[in-house]
Amino acid sequence: MPSDDKNKKVLGIKIDVDTYHGMKNGVPRLLNILGNYDIKSTFFLSIGPDASGRAILQLIKNPRFLKKMVRTNAVGLYGLRTALYGTLLPSPMIALSFPEIVQEILSQGHEVQFHAWDHRRWQDEVHTRSTQWIRDWFEKGIRGFAELTGQTPSAFGAPAWAIDDRVMEILKDYRFDYLSCTRARKPFIHEKIGVVEIPSDLPCFEEVGVPEGITSVTSILKDGDMHVLPVHAEVEGGIWSSPFIELIEQIKNTGYRFTTLSEIRKLLPVDKLAVRKYRMELLPGRSVPCAV
Ligand SMILES: [Zn+2]
Repeated sequence: MPSDDKNKKVLGIKIDVDTYHGMKNGVPRLLNILGNYDIKSTFFLSIGPDASGRAILQLIKNPRFLKKMVRTNAVGLYGLRTALYGTLLPSPMIALSFPEIVQEILSQGHEVQFHAWDHRRWQDEVHTRSTQWIRDWFEKGIRGFAELTGQTPSAFGAPAWAIDDRVMEILKDYRFDYLSCTRARKPFIHEKIGVVEIPSDLPCFEEVGVPEGITSVTSILKDGDMHVLPVHAEVEGGIWSSPFIELIEQIKNTGYRFTTLSEIRKLLPVDKLAVRKYRMELLPGRSVPCAV
């Protein structure tokens, strides 16, 4: 990543909230942890229905997903109820059920951005749904975001880092200030739409497990550059909150400065970034390809 002094040793934490359980329990826990270390982060919120139970269908269809569920102890991570939402139990709304938690995130000085309307359905179905379905998904999500925050989001982070050309075309209309839709190694400009991409370039616990996650993140950070760590409210705000705290302490000790993704957006030398198209790639520890 860029090498100006102000861009040295900068870490953004991108917190994705994917489920009702993560919003209700994970976010307050993460707020507590971040508050203790005086760290400001960016929360990407899922606004609408939690259809996580539909993952069970995926489990039947995709053996790599089954491996991931077992390795990450998915039922332990997300809870049994979460596994049934959208199948045997109705889907509860995620951020829309907790306006007071959204206010709490903002009042503690964190950034809030748009992650999803229906996270699970995007993840499973975005590539097969119609363009109109994608448009409606954005309309509902951004309307809900505005209800909760009183403003429109200035960034979008695609669920499961899944995008395609139709999504990019729609994103153009929303004039986002930046996107965080990929797992690329370096920030770049999305060709055709001209929007800055701030990728999550570090691995997440969910992919590599613990303690491997701590070792691999701290070893990458030795380069002293600018990085973004992907975190999930359900995971680092749940059963893996202790290793997350340990990781923060280790990073703090190396002199890194924590900041929001919009601050990183301001620090980036936009005229020096590569302009290119995203690619889809299957990353280690993931069940389906991600944009890079
Ligand atoms: Zn997500």
